[in-house]
Amino acid sequence: MRTGFPDFRLGNVLSTSFTGTLSERHGDPVERIPTPQRLIDWLAEYDLAVDSCTPAQLELARDLRESIHAAATAAALQEALPAPAVKIINDRSAQGRAAAVLTPEGARQWRLSPASLVEDALSVIAADAISILAGERDGRLALCASPTCQAAFFDTSQSHTRKWCDMNTCGNRQKKARYNAAHRKSPSRAK
Ligand SMILES: [Zn+2]
Repeated sequence: MRTGFPDFRLGNVLSTSFTGTLSERHGDPVERIPTPQRLIDWLAEYDLAVDSCTPAQLELARDLRESIHAAATAAALQEALPAPAVKIINDRSAQGRAAAVLTPEGARQWRLSPASLVEDALSVIAADAISILAGERDGRLALCASPTCQAAFFDTSQSHTRKWCDMNTCGNRQKKARYNAAHRKSPSRAK
């Protein structure tokens, strides 16, 4: 979808994909949900369709996002979880209404309240973050090796050795930088 806004990076882990809606936190940050409509668009990508979003609800979403990022970063570094972040994650989890339902095909879906509020969708994201931070899921929280990114991501690879939050962006950039460095060092090898 061409919207004139930064594209989404859609990973397969809900809560860390959500924190990825702000990227390059340690470089030139890219805000991927700059408007309420972009939050609606992002939620729809994860089957969390909401009817509307106000600027105040976008603020709630960003507060949750930064809280998950702070808690996940602390967990990746094996530090104590920051209490204010934990409080916001818990508040968002408690203040939405969403029910897990089973489709005829046996997949889990989230059904939001009849009003389909942003708060309902945020409660699903908060619960996803809690399941990761509580160590309930198979995987490891890690920080992206790109110095300008350092995003917290959930590594579900078998070897738990993933280095980048996203292969197509941070991983690729790193590979290109290494390639260029190698070719600068040995010009005689160039054809
Ligand atoms: Zn990264």
